Amino acid sequence: MDDDDCEGYLFKVVIIGDSAVGKSNLLSRYSRNEFNIHTKATIGVEFQTQSMEIDGKEVKAQIWDTAGQERFRAVTSAYYRGAVGALIVYDITRRTTFDSVGRWLDELNIHSDTTIARMLVGNKSDLENIRDVSVEEGKSLAEAEGLFFMETSALDSTNVRTAFEMVIKEIYNNVSRKVL
Ligand code: GDP
Ligand code: MG
Repeated sequence: MDDDDCEGYLFKVVIIGDSAVGKSNLLSRYSRNEFNIHTKATIGVEFQTQSMEIDGKEVKAQIWDTAGQERFRAVTSAYYRGAVGALIVYDITRRTTFDSVGRWLDELNIHSDTTIARMLVGNKSDLENIRDVSVEEGKSLAEAEGLFFMETSALDSTNVRTAFEMVIKEIYNNVSRKVL
């Protein structure tokens, strides 16, 4: 792929993780700068398309949100198909969601190439007072699994854009490396 082919290229990115960790709010914060306190299981909208500029080129990411299918193994292979990036999200206030990360990574590995851009996201960093998973634990899991790591807050916007854009940049770099 040469530089011109990269213009308008669409990268598929999936968001996975246990129910209620904030996946839908991370996406709505990133794509529409919106946050919802009362959310129902995600129904309807399957993905949002976001553009960003890298090296002076417009790069688009089609970011998929699980349609309320977060029960283990309920996310279908169609969801993962063609994904070149993934955000694996847990809630820093609920250890069970952190304990599930390994299973989500297994799922991801079954359905996609391990070379896809992957970021571990500890969401709800605004809830420091009821934190249940330390920053260090998140970091060391990410290091062990070869993932990027970031704590975010969809509520106060901390690191949300940065997390998505780091993944998209890494995908772009992966694509560039493959052709060089
Ligand atoms: P999903 O099931 O993973 O898509 O999670 P949702 O986006 O539906 O969020 C689940 C609940 O967590 C909702 O009540 C949200 O308002 C809340 N929530 C999501 N992100 C954050 C965050 O960063 N901080 C706080 N305090 N609450 C959040
Ligand atoms: Mg949701």
